[in-house]
Amino acid sequence: MGLLDGKKLLITGVLTDASLAFGVARLAQREGAEIVLTGAGRGLRLTRRTARKLDVEPDVLELDVTDETHAAAVRDALGERWGTVDGALHAIGFAPEACLGGRFLETGWDDVAVALQVSAYSLRTVADAVVPLMSGGGSIVGLDFDARVAWPAYDWMGVAKAALESTARYLARDLGPQGIRVNLVAAGPVKTLAARSIPGFSAFEDVWDARAPLGWDVTDETGAVARACVALLSDWFPATTGELLHVDGGYHAVGA
Ligand code: NAP
Repeated sequence: MGLLDGKKLLITGVLTDASLAFGVARLAQREGAEIVLTGAGRGLRLTRRTARKLDVEPDVLELDVTDETHAAAVRDALGERWGTVDGALHAIGFAPEACLGGRFLETGWDDVAVALQVSAYSLRTVADAVVPLMSGGGSIVGLDFDARVAWPAYDWMGVAKAALESTARYLARDLGPQGIRVNLVAAGPVKTLAARSIPGFSAFEDVWDARAPLGWDVTDETGAVARACVALLSDWFPATTGELLHVDGGYHAVGA
């Protein structure tokens, strides 16, 4: 029996097979879930190509979180296909170049606004796409990079992640009465396309493995992040919401 037998899930953020969401999509299928992916803009074609690498090729819907019409279209498509939805993975993050790399005091609002919309407000947008279909309750899981401290280079993306953390708590508050849980997984650094575009990101990679009590593999070979997401999407965390679950080898728990 699979952990997600019979579950119908919307999975965002599968761009390449290195995407954290790809690991979640693969494991979700292996644990019995039926999934639909979403892709955005120019990445949509790449998402479709990557979808073919999964055990069962899922359909890919367009969801650019900066286009207000897309969430409603995704909701309609899922409603027609399944009637109900049990869970969603939010694996969406982007910040313009000016937001990253150590120019925190120079970044203008226009760039910051994009980072906040795409990386934080989008959790609400994904919720808009699935919540009306979660008549039997559900689980929304997002991917976070721990924003309780200031990191080198991460800058306004860090601010956006702090906003994501807060958004998750408010959604947990408002959706809890409908039996919908909202949780985040704070992952350690993993070499993905998004991570590579952050200048200075390799500095995290060097220190993480040395400092984390359990050690840390920047390729996430063991699928630790995917396993945590799948567990949260399953029925095994029925009383957990508004939580920030660290999957980082324990890095967050120790000082320098
Ligand atoms: P990734 O493979 O590059 O995935 C990022 C995803 O965000 C892509 O699918 C990208 O699609 C999507 N995206 C960007 N702008 C979008 C928009 N306007 N609308 C919809 N989707 C959009 O990188 P990843 O590292 O797996 O990132 C997934 C999540 O994990 C992000 O929230 C990231 O912050 C988080 N995370 C990553 C790490 C890490 O070290 N890699 C650690 C902790 C948390 P397009 O490119 O097609 O727009």
